[in-house]
Amino acid sequence: MNIHEYQAREIFRAHGIPVPGGEVASTPEEVEAIASRLGGRVVIKAQVHAGGRGKAGGVKLATGPAEAREMASAILGMEIKGLTVLKVLVAPALDIAHEYYLGVAVDRKAGLPLIMASREGGIDIEEVAVTRPQAIVRHHFDPQAGLRAFEARQIAFAIEPDGKQAAQIAAVLQKLCVAFAAVDASLAEINPLIKTLDGEIVALDAKVNLDDNALFRHPELAALRDRSTETPDEEEARQKGLSFIKLDGEIGCVVNGAGLAMATMDLVKHFGGRPANFLDIGGSSDPEKVVTAIKIITHDPKVKAILFNIFGGITRCDDVARGLVEAVKRTQIKLPIVIRLTGTNEAEAREILKGVSGLTPATSMDEAVQKAVALAKSTGGAA
Ligand code: GDP
Ligand code: MN
Repeated sequence: MNIHEYQAREIFRAHGIPVPGGEVASTPEEVEAIASRLGGRVVIKAQVHAGGRGKAGGVKLATGPAEAREMASAILGMEIKGLTVLKVLVAPALDIAHEYYLGVAVDRKAGLPLIMASREGGIDIEEVAVTRPQAIVRHHFDPQAGLRAFEARQIAFAIEPDGKQAAQIAAVLQKLCVAFAAVDASLAEINPLIKTLDGEIVALDAKVNLDDNALFRHPELAALRDRSTETPDEEEARQKGLSFIKLDGEIGCVVNGAGLAMATMDLVKHFGGRPANFLDIGGSSDPEKVVTAIKIITHDPKVKAILFNIFGGITRCDDVARGLVEAVKRTQIKLPIVIRLTGTNEAEAREILKGVSGLTPATSMDEAVQKAVALAKSTGGAA
């Protein structure tokens, strides 16, 4: 789950990382009022779940309240990478002497958290990563022990020779690693971490991605979810307990179990098709879930065929079949449906599905996928 910069800043602040103050606003008038309260120069920052806001014109410095209001009216409502800006963060502007980069991410390959640090932080870090990867220091640390002081100092000195600032950077880095673990983040990033003209180290930007699978441990963080950033389909899927990820192929997939869903998508690819989505209807599928699944999939005009691949264990095939009959009735879908049901109550399911038009039954996975790919092609899907 993504959270906004102002929310990530709170997490950093709670862990003792120096961050500037500031407030969030959604109208130019509020921005003006906040700027008056803060006094002096302010920075106005678009709060959207996207990086590169600076380059897109979503981060602007204003000399005072009037200019702040003007800039806020330009930023509010603008689109950055397809996302509409509904809120801005207004914070005191700082004078920058240097911009560094600090990040911690999960390195799945190594099975460890990975620190990345660079002296060349700021808005061009992606380019630095590509053109001069040696300018980024990488260091894995033991999540059980945490990042130890000597490791933090080594990394800090690799990006800042001055002892005073290096000590501050090391302290920030250790706190960043603690915060990363404490909230079960998949990414915690400060870009830029700055040295001010006064020689202080401050986190000027904050980015935290949370691991969805650990959110149950953090109800206060789960509440930070910004529903304005979710598509209605994604929201409905989540509310009904479906894991749904939209892709851009032409074969809608309805599968029970994440592993089987992955295998099904692989097989679709293997037989020359492209999956339109990942969808796991979960273990105990009630008919309502199947109806929701069909509704969400058929919202996508690219979908040319729907493939059901259900392995009945706890999930009962007859439940899925009932849901399918109900969905066909309610949504009046015209798309061809290929269905492979096997396992618990398979015979009952077949009985229920007999006589439903537009359904193509299949017994093996290979057969089901091949049929779905062929049907999608014959109905005009570009595979
Ligand atoms: P991003 O582009 O989405 O990563 O947004 P950032 O928060 O990183 O801001 C982009 C750039 O704006 C930073 O790299 C800074 O150069 C600049 N910036 C942001 N806040 C301030 C500030 O308080 N003072 C100054 N002088 N520049 C700032
Ligand atoms: Mn940034």
